[in-house]
Amino acid sequence: MDPTPLAAVAADGDPVDEEERDRRLPGAPAPVRVRVPAKINLHLSVGDVRADGFHELATVFQAISLYDELTATPADRTSITITGEGAHELPTDSDNIAVRAVHALAEHTGRSGKVRLTVHKGIPVAGGMAGGSADAAAALVACDALWATGLSREELGEVAATLGSDVPFALAGGTALGTGRGELLSPVLAPRRRHWVVAVAAGGLATPEVYGELDRLRAEQRPLLAAGSPDLLLAALRAEQPAVLGRTLANDLQPAALSLRGTLRRTLAAGIEEGALGGIVSGSGPTCVFLASDADHAVDIAARLAGHGVCRTVRTAYGPVPGARVVSG
Ligand code: C5P
Repeated sequence: MDPTPLAAVAADGDPVDEEERDRRLPGAPAPVRVRVPAKINLHLSVGDVRADGFHELATVFQAISLYDELTATPADRTSITITGEGAHELPTDSDNIAVRAVHALAEHTGRSGKVRLTVHKGIPVAGGMAGGSADAAAALVACDALWATGLSREELGEVAATLGSDVPFALAGGTALGTGRGELLSPVLAPRRRHWVVAVAAGGLATPEVYGELDRLRAEQRPLLAAGSPDLLLAALRAEQPAVLGRTLANDLQPAALSLRGTLRRTLAAGIEEGALGGIVSGSGPTCVFLASDADHAVDIAARLAGHGVCRTVRTAYGPVPGARVVSG
């Protein structure tokens, strides 16, 4: 699907942006526009809490075709404007992770660059799909281009890792194995396009609370099915039949997300009832994702799932797709 043209996004969300463009001095750098995908975790195995408070992970990320768009324009001071569904829930001060990314890159490269960021959200807010991390990755790519920093992709990845566990993957995209706290990435062979149905819940779940709930359930010695090694899933990604992949989806955070939000059980059951090949809570939730056999099947499941009234919005998407990239125009 083609990205929404900048003019349309800016015009409906933020008319000031258009004025700024018209006022731009001849010779001033043009705004840079970046498109960045959402991620899902096809496998998420959570180990023990480390001394730094993070949990040791083995996870398989896939970038899917739900996108945020970020535009960075040189300005006198750094600011952010966010449009799209759920935008009002996000901070627009220096707490915003995209603003923190601008500052981190400026510090890392010794620049004093300031930018006006405009973000249009296509990734569900607070859904466990790394929308904030995606915006941070997009801000890094945009400022990297704007300031011609000459950083390698690896170095940009190191700055990304200081901002959050999922930010390096939002830069990389595709399908990757994440270890450490999720920031150490190895590419994974996933040659086939997979089709997903994304069930967005009403209201978010805070990631630290979901990890905390998993620790609590484990401390109570609840019998939890562990995701274990990702080997079966890694093999399934290469299999022709998507049903093989559907059977190997696993997420250690799912019992914790279900414990905090019991209604997700109904969402998962509804997706499977409507013919999905597998269903899982995405990351720390509350978004649930379902595997379909092809694009038409995904649309069919999405339509039926919407009829169950068990989620706020249903979308279809495919993956893998590339990570944060500058788009022209
Ligand atoms: O790195 P990020 O900002 O996405 O992490 C948010 C929170 O999620 C952390 O503060 C931590 O509570 C939890 N987390 C964790 N182990 C990880 C990743 C995140 O406990 N590997």
